[in-house]
Amino acid sequence: MGDACPCGRLDKKGRAVAYADCCARYVEHFETSPAPDAEHLMRSRYSAFVLENAAYLQATWQAGQRPETLDFEPAARWLGLSVKDFRATGEDSAEVEFVARYRVAGRAVRLHERSRFVRENGRWYYLDGDQF
Ligand SMILES: [Zn+2]
Repeated sequence: MGDACPCGRLDKKGRAVAYADCCARYVEHFETSPAPDAEHLMRSRYSAFVLENAAYLQATWQAGQRPETLDFEPAARWLGLSVKDFRATGEDSAEVEFVARYRVAGRAVRLHERSRFVRENGRWYYLDGDQF
């Protein structure tokens, strides 16, 4: 078993799931193995943020909303993700509410967002989100 997945997923026994068995399946294999639903996509995008994988974040951003470039907060230390809610809002749309915590310059930041996802041609993409 390798390093714990940044997304913090636990198995049925409450043990951390390895990155290789969790988000890496999507982050490292975007072309062949897309995330099966919005929650998996959300978790894998969080892991990609932690790993500063801009290519994956761009690839999973809905084309009309995708930023041209992506900047990472270099000093940010990600502390964890908690998925609060996950629901389908239509045949090809879903929402995920989550809290992500990180620390930057000694300051703890809590990012609470409800994100919207859409499915296009069988793949899920991040659309946008509302922060609380
Ligand atoms: Zn994961």
